[in-house]
This record gives sequence, C-alpha cells and structure tokens, in this order.
Amino acid sequence: MNVVWLKRDLRLHDHAPLAAACARGDVLVVYVVEPELVRQPETDPSHVAFVAESLTGLREALRARGGELVILMGALPDVFEELHRTRPIHALYSHEETGNGLTYERDKRVAQWAKARGIPWTELPQTGVVRRLRTRDGWAARWAERMRAPAVPTPERIPGVPLRELGLEPGQVPDEHALGLPRSAKTGAQRGGEAAARETLASFFADRGEDYARALSSPVTGWEGCSRLSTYLAHGNISMREVVHAAATKRRALEGDLSPHAKRWRMSLAALEARLRWHCHFMQKLEDEPRLEYDNLARAADGLREPDFREELFEAWACGKTGYPMIDACMRALLATGWVNFRMRAMLVSFAAYDLWLHWRRPGLHLARHFLDYEPGIHWSQMQMQSGTTGINTLRMYSPTKQLLDHDPDGVFVRRWVPELARLPRENLAEPWKTPPLLQRAAGCVIGSDYPAPVVDHAAAIAEARVRLAPARRTTEARAEAAAIVKKHGSRKRPTGGGRSGGRPRKTS
Ligand SMILES: Cc1cc2nc3c(=O)[nH]c(=O)nc-3n(C[C@H](O)[C@H](O)[C@H](O)COP(=O)(O)OP(=O)(O)OC[C@H]3O[C@@H](n4cnc5c(N)ncnc54)[C@H](O)[C@@H]3O)c2cc1C
Repeated sequence: MNVVWLKRDLRLHDHAPLAAACARGDVLVVYVVEPELVRQPETDPSHVAFVAESLTGLREALRARGGELVILMGALPDVFEELHRTRPIHALYSHEETGNGLTYERDKRVAQWAKARGIPWTELPQTGVVRRLRTRDGWAARWAERMRAPAVPTPERIPGVPLRELGLEPGQVPDEHALGLPRSAKTGAQRGGEAAARETLASFFADRGEDYARALSSPVTGWEGCSRLSTYLAHGNISMREVVHAAATKRRALEGDLSPHAKRWRMSLAALEARLRWHCHFMQKLEDEPRLEYDNLARAADGLREPDFREELFEAWACGKTGYPMIDACMRALLATGWVNFRMRAMLVSFAAYDLWLHWRRPGLHLARHFLDYEPGIHWSQMQMQSGTTGINTLRMYSPTKQLLDHDPDGVFVRRWVPELARLPRENLAEPWKTPPLLQRAAGCVIGSDYPAPVVDHAAAIAEARVRLAPARRTTEARAEAAAIVKKHGSRKRPTGGGRSGGRPRKTS
C-alpha cells in the first residue's frame, strides 16, 4: 500500500502527495499524533483543538471520495514500522516540512528507517521554500514560478485500503481531553479546517481586504482587516499557491477599473502579495540554518543578554502585567484569541528584548505556544530580527506609548483587554501612571494596586539597550559576520531590508 503521511497539510485540495499516491494505487492516509510533539513547550491546547477540527473536516472529505483517514498515536518511525509489518508499505508520501528541531530530527529518523526498509519516501514542496538551496540568488523568481503553477487536481476517488484487512480502526480524532490536556482557554480562537480557511479567504477577497494596506497596523482594524490566513497556512488548511492564485484572480477582475475602490484594492493586493512572499522568505532562513531556533544568528550578539534574564520581568510580560497598557492589552488579547497583528507582535518582542533585556528564546517559546499560527521558520527568524540578533537588520525599538496613540487613539482595544483601565479618561490611557491620584481613584484604577506601575522606565531602558548593543555591532568581526549573513539569508530585492550591518538603531517607532 501507499501511505500518505499528513503533517502540516490538513487539506484535500492542492495536495500533491495525496494525488501522487492515488495515481499509484491503494492509499492509506495517516495522521500520527506524536506524544513528543504534544509535550513540547510550544504546544498549547488551542493547537490541539485546531488540529482536531481540521482532521474532523478532512476525514469527512476523504470519506466522501471513498477514502479514510487513519489516526494513529506513537513515536515515529515505530508507528510506520508496525504498519509496514501489517501490510508492506510500497511508498511513503508527504509534504516537505520546515519544522522545528524536534520534527527535523524525527524526519531524519523516518528517512533512515525508510531507507533501511527500501521504502521510497517522496517529499513534495507546498510552499516556496527550496530544499538544499545553494544560493539566494534567483530565489524570488523560483518562488514566483512555483506559485504560478496550477493547483494539483483533487483526486475524484481515493482508492482507500480497506481497514478491516489491516485490522485497523480509523482512530478517534484526538482533542485536548483525549491527550490529557486542559481545554483550550482561547475562547476567541479561529476554527480549524479547510472549509473555515476557504471562508476566510473568500470573505477577504469579497470585501474585508479592500482597506487591508491601511488596516494592517492597528490591532483595532487588523482583527477584521488583516487576511487572517496565517493559521490556515501554518496548518496547511489551504495551500500558499491557492492564496496567491486568489490574489491574482482578484487583480485580473480589477483590470481597467480606475475607481478609487479599485485603487485601494490594488494597494492591498500588492501589500498582501509581498507578505505571502515574506512567508516563504523567512521560512527559508530556518530551512537553511536550523540552529537559528536556538542560537543568535549573529554570534556577535552572544553573551549580551544571556546572564541577565530577570524572571519577574518575564512573568509580568508573559501575563500582560507590565504597567504599559498597549503591551498588556496585546498580550492578553493574544492569550485569549491566539492572534495579534504583525506590528503588535513586533512591539511585544521589542519590549521583551530592549526594555526588559530578555534573551529571545523563552519569550519566543511563550509566543509560539500562544500563536495559533506558530510557524517555526517565520517565528524564530522574526524573534531574532525584532530582538536585534541577526546582525543585519536595523534595530527597531517600539514605544508602547506611541503605538497606543498611533493605533488605538480612542483606547477601544486597550479598554477591552485591560478592563482595569476602562474608566480612565482617554488622555490618560497611554501613560496611566501619570494620572493624578485623585483621578485614579475616581476612575477606580489606582496605579500600583488596581493596575501595575510600569515595570521599567521605557526611555531609560531603551537608552541603556542602545549603549549595550552598539559595540557588539560595530567590531570588524561583527561587520564581517553580518556580510556573510546577508549573503546567505538576505533578500536580493534591495541591498538590505535588510543588510545594513552595524547600523545605528532607528529612532523609537
Ligand atoms: C515576533 C513575530 C513572530 C511571528 N510569528 C509568526 C508565526 O509563527 N507564524 C506566522 O504565520 N507569522 C508570524 N509572524 C508574522 C506575522 O505577524 C503574521 O503572519 C501575521 O500577523 C498573521 O496575520 P494574518 O494572516 O492576518 O497576516 P497578514 O498581515 O494578512 O499577512 C498575510 C500573510 O502573509 C504572511 N506574513 C505576513 N507578515 C509576515 C511577516 N512579517 N513575515 C513572514 N510572513 C508574513 C503570513 O503568511 C500571513 O498570513 C510573526 C511576526 C513577529 C513579529
């Protein structure tokens, strides 16, 4: 039999491994619940719930075409070995995965096992990430070529192997309860599954996306105005190619239309298409250099923050009690929903890295656990970029006060997620600690008892961070290292988004 191993590709459409296996003969579609991955610190019950919803929909879709989804539990490759003993596996099919250290090691074990058993394992790409890439030159053109290719046709009929012959049960879709985890606390999380992904895509291109370019940055407008596709892309409920095709279809529909409405759409489409490319650009970095999940990309940054990790500051940040309303609102929104927009993610990390001087690894694990769209390649590359440890990117230090004034001037978002501040006047929201004591009492929000005083002084902390970082970026070795990093990982679109080494930090954003 031919085994299709589902990983982060929980969909029926544009599924190259499924189509290839079906063309070859009898197919067993398998999803393996791996206890090692359930236990890893990045896993939150919300991830398990999302996968369970995705598997439920996929099982129905497979059954409608004569197939079946078998859910097995255990370590790999042991689970495959047992299957192989039940009935010989002729070929194994899956998508390529740019995962974290655990899945990378797991894939190496599976590859060894398959080789030893003489079972060909065909891994097919599903994004623009290129395996064993030799140079970044020409990468964007390869990305575009892959995305232009037509979607893989969905098999009309899936020649499923009768499970009874294998003595197998389809297996229960494992939810949080079945895996011994608490119920997901994310009551506002997106629902998993191919149908939900397609609805999200359709609503974006029907109307939500028109003001995308302007709505992106604010957590108020971003909730509806961002594409909200990341979670579906991360779990493979929809393919990157199908999203790129949908954007191209929309662009064609606007041809010749000179209305302001069409102009807004064109701006939005350009912004979206750039981001879809970034998705794979960032994943490519982890594919090419897996150690960036654990180590500073620029070794010049080694030792800068490691000895100074202050647990109490980390805890305040992680639960949204720093005394900075925009930081706390974003963190609490994330804990409840599994999502915040890009700018607010960057601000959260900037605050951890510069204001609190925390090494990025533990904050990164915390965010990975709470991002429902956790995608290791994007995540760890962005953690390092926003923490100033890539050696090549301009340091971007966000002011939580400015971010609130720019992106939530009426305090809609902050009041929702930090109810302690709900009755504070609008003009006091950005810096509540400056509110006169009488007014604090009148608003039911006494700083230091109802809501924390700032855990650090932003201006002083940023100034100190600049002083601490500068020498490490200016040495000859650091510059040479940065040049090598640009060569290996830099986008070739412009000299650097970048590639400026040892650059001076930007003014606080
Ligand atoms: C510290 C940090 C960690 C992040 N971790 C993740 C992660 O684990 N998974 C993830 O998908 N995104 C991550 N991002 C990128 C970005 O914030 C999210 O992709 C985006 O907020 C998801 O919402 P959306 O789908 O509405 O995106 P949109 O803003 O509508 O963008 C469309 C798509 O483009 C891609 N994209 C957008 N921005 C970026 C970016 N800066 N880099 C790479 N791809 C991008 C995503 O696939 C996204 O779905 C991270 C950003 C930061 C600063």
